Amino acid sequence: MVVSFASGKGGTGKTIVATSLALYVSENGINLIFLDCDVEEPNSALFLKPLISKTSKVGIPIPIVDFKKCTYCGKCADVCTYNAIAVVKDNVLVFPELCHGCGGCSLFCPEKAISEKIRDIGVIEEGNTNGIKFIQGRLNPGESMVVPLIREVKEKMVKDSETTTIIDVPPGTSCPVVESIKGSDFVILITEPTPFGLNDLKLAVETVRKLEIDFGIIINRVGIGDEKVEEYCKLENIPVIAKIPYSRDVAVQYSYGIPMLIDGEKYREIFHRIWEEIISKIR
Ligand code: SF4
Ligand code: SF4
Repeated sequence: MVVSFASGKGGTGKTIVATSLALYVSENGINLIFLDCDVEEPNSALFLKPLISKTSKVGIPIPIVDFKKCTYCGKCADVCTYNAIAVVKDNVLVFPELCHGCGGCSLFCPEKAISEKIRDIGVIEEGNTNGIKFIQGRLNPGESMVVPLIREVKEKMVKDSETTTIIDVPPGTSCPVVESIKGSDFVILITEPTPFGLNDLKLAVETVRKLEIDFGIIINRVGIGDEKVEEYCKLENIPVIAKIPYSRDVAVQYSYGIPMLIDGEKYREIFHRIWEEIISKIR
């Protein structure tokens, strides 16, 4: 089964909650894969501390035009919805940073004048920690092709009854989020009880509903704000899977990359209940 951890806004504690649950689950003998799809800023490794044993480059194919064959017919530019290729007089311009590597231009070129070369966009790092298979994508600095890298990370997902996959999703509600949570059995939306938390939670709820994936809410840092998130969940009939109280100790631990479980029985009990809830929702 695949469980994604998302949040409408950054800074809600999504990663510390996802990694703490992963540690709890693996301690209980469950076969677990952890995917960090937050490829622009992967930081689950700070909490899970995996030993990385394999790094592989990820690239996308970009077009190379053979000007001996090209007739400047313009069909490649017509087919490119990303404006990554343009035909001007007697030249064909390729803009690699805009190219999504879809292969459409080479497919539609009547002269077979387009070949492809790979442009590196990032890496996938694989390793192990506490019995968890750990995989993260890391986008090259300044690179914007987030979705193709997330797609590659998700290729590593195992969808069988023996394995649980936990996905750390990028914050927000845009394409990288949709790509990350697509195919999940359940999505946990982490929020905080503040006006910002509520506003971004509503956007995240809309996104998950459109994708028709079952979901629930974890309210983190309960005690710092108000009751409006809970009222919203009640009104919208959204299950609150857990409420995690605000703790200064956790905030300090967070800054050292220490997951919540280290704090002892209190958090173990919370994550036990979260896991039971998730299981009951998926069955
Ligand atoms: S489709 Fe092929 S032949 Fe036509 S302009 Fe593009 S590269 Fe040249
Ligand atoms: S591979 Fe796709 S995105 Fe890239 S230039 Fe060709 S049509 Fe455009």
